[in-house]
Amino acid sequence: MTQERQIEAIISPPPYHWVGNGFKVNNFMPRGIQSNSRMSPFFLLDYNAKMYYPPSSEKRGVGVHPHRGLETVTIAYKGKVAHHDSEGNGGIISEGDVQWMTAGRAILHKEYHEESYVKEGGDFQMVQLWVNLPAKDKMTAPKYQEIPAETMGKYMLDGGKGEVNIIAGTYENAKGPASTFTPINLFDVRLSKNASLSFNFDETHNTAFLIIEGHALINNKEKAPQDHLVLFENKGKNIVLEALEDATILVMSGAPINEAVYPYGPFLMNNEEEIQQAFEDFHNGEFGELED
Ligand code: MN
Repeated sequence: MTQERQIEAIISPPPYHWVGNGFKVNNFMPRGIQSNSRMSPFFLLDYNAKMYYPPSSEKRGVGVHPHRGLETVTIAYKGKVAHHDSEGNGGIISEGDVQWMTAGRAILHKEYHEESYVKEGGDFQMVQLWVNLPAKDKMTAPKYQEIPAETMGKYMLDGGKGEVNIIAGTYENAKGPASTFTPINLFDVRLSKNASLSFNFDETHNTAFLIIEGHALINNKEKAPQDHLVLFENKGKNIVLEALEDATILVMSGAPINEAVYPYGPFLMNNEEEIQQAFEDFHNGEFGELED
């Protein structure tokens, strides 16, 4: 019999803060989990819970800023998010789509609400993850992967009871399109009421679920409410996820990067000297150019 993987904590949304004027986020990582490394390779998780934006003519989002040493992964659940970067890449994503940007050695980008969505107004809900890069890959060339929902790996439950959209990694025989630097499983799971699924990740891989919509029941006993993060222990294998009502769940699991973590603002490096170097390179214009 497979040993059950137990819950370590069910974490309530930490107090929100604004990123620019377009992202009202609960910082589940590192703040909610109170650690820079507990969920490695995932360093940051900003969650904009579902909210309504009235029609407007203002620009909403965050202007040009740099990154180094990490990847930003943006998942749109409601509304439309646009992105442009100094490598000339850009795109617009809406419900179910993902932008996977590798900052690597240097990038400038801006992130904002797509203009026609701003004019029309409507619900907005999104997640941004920062995925750490191992020391040997921190200075890799910048890269952009656009991952529309229809390009994701798909595992369908019998009888139309739900689906697993595989962004990265594998579930059953379905494989996600994202290329990653370290082993990662990242799934957008949609379940109808009373449907259930099980997951068997390597027990050394740090694993958490974010309940985006609906309520879930974990291992047939613990209730996980909407907008909460479920953090699992690193022992045991099998996790059973059941939807108590129609539910959307973000499943994150990855092999930890066992290296020192030194975050500062938009940079994620291994030590203070590398952070100082990042600021120096940024001020010397080595991050490229991008108009606001
Ligand atoms: Mn950014």
